[in-house]
Amino acid sequence: MTIQHNIPLQPLNTFGIHAEAANLITINIEDQLAEVGAMPQPKHIIGGGSNILLTTNPGGLVLLNRLKGIEQIQEDDSYIYLRVASGEVWHHLVMHTVQQGLGGIENLALIPGTVGASPMQNIGAYGVEVKDTIQSVTFWHWADAKMHTYTAADCQFGYRESIFKHQLKDQVYITSVVYKLSKHPVLNTSYGAIEQELQTMHVTTPTVATVAQAVINIRSSKLPDPAVTGNAGSFFKNPTIPIAQYETLKAQHPTIPSYPVTPDTVKVPAGWLIEQCGWKGYRRGNCGVHPKQALVLVNYGAALGTDIWQLSTDILRSVQEKFGIELEREVNVW
Ligand SMILES: Cc1cc2nc3c(=O)[nH]c(=O)nc-3n(C[C@H](O)[C@H](O)[C@H](O)COP(=O)(O)OP(=O)(O)OC[C@H]3O[C@@H](n4cnc5c(N)ncnc54)[C@H](O)[C@@H]3O)c2cc1C
Repeated sequence: MTIQHNIPLQPLNTFGIHAEAANLITINIEDQLAEVGAMPQPKHIIGGGSNILLTTNPGGLVLLNRLKGIEQIQEDDSYIYLRVASGEVWHHLVMHTVQQGLGGIENLALIPGTVGASPMQNIGAYGVEVKDTIQSVTFWHWADAKMHTYTAADCQFGYRESIFKHQLKDQVYITSVVYKLSKHPVLNTSYGAIEQELQTMHVTTPTVATVAQAVINIRSSKLPDPAVTGNAGSFFKNPTIPIAQYETLKAQHPTIPSYPVTPDTVKVPAGWLIEQCGWKGYRRGNCGVHPKQALVLVNYGAALGTDIWQLSTDILRSVQEKFGIELEREVNVW
């Protein structure tokens, strides 16, 4: 197995942060994992690098996930089940399913990254979360040197959450995911501007393919392209707060938006809170807050990971002071 040394990570993370991996191994086949697992160094997995902030040069072993393959393993009257290797590019999988007319993940088109990271944080967009199509997740556990398969229920999915971000954090290498895709898609076009975009596209009878295209069009016009401006998508999660706290805040800030979560809690858009604190479009040296989307922190060129970390800390503090709400970072900080 080849270990590469002193490898620049700038092309391997969408923030475009300059850092170096002392040791990097590209994982192409699952059989490598037993040998890698026997090495004592700490292990850091990179898929598409679209949800990490590098604040330091990662020591130990950086494992670049390039496991490939899409395989149909089962079919019944309603569903097709695909086992997908974790190093497949997520958007390629979406387009693969859409081309076959299969429903379930069309609203998640154009999310950067790999299949293996999709269950990590239960990726979601436009009213859909990937957990609803995941049948199972298979992973190599470093500690017992064995493969395990968890059902969706075992994965403890929540909003941008799963067992892989908590109990199993840094302990496993996700090798494949089985998705259950509908042969009779029920389209979800109610969220965001999908309906409006379909009208602009002159689509009267939407299909999974046209919904995916509408999402692609909307995302391309709204979100900064990491190839142009370094970023990792939403930097913070939208906080969920008790209704009582929300009512108090609403008395002071009548325009505060909210979305119901449970009878006792609501979700508040973090982007709105950050914007109200005056951060939208703010620039500090080489980093800043995107001028169109306050939830996205950006690298204008040569920002250090620590610059972005400090900016995020200052944002957290000001939101806490103004609204009494503690934001949480969505991005994985290394
Ligand atoms: C422009 C932009 C838009 C985005 N929009 C969205 C959005 O709409 N919705 C959304 O949910 N996310 C969004 N994201 C965030 C990001 O795309 C997702 O979190 C994506 O799933 C990350 O995949 P990745 O392969 O790049 O993960 P990485 O950044 O490579 O890794 C993320 C974390 O997962 C771990 N990991 C990765 N692969 C494995 C594996 N095989 N086994 C175990 N651990 C692993 C890593 O160690 C790391 O801790 C956006 C990002 C960008 C840049």
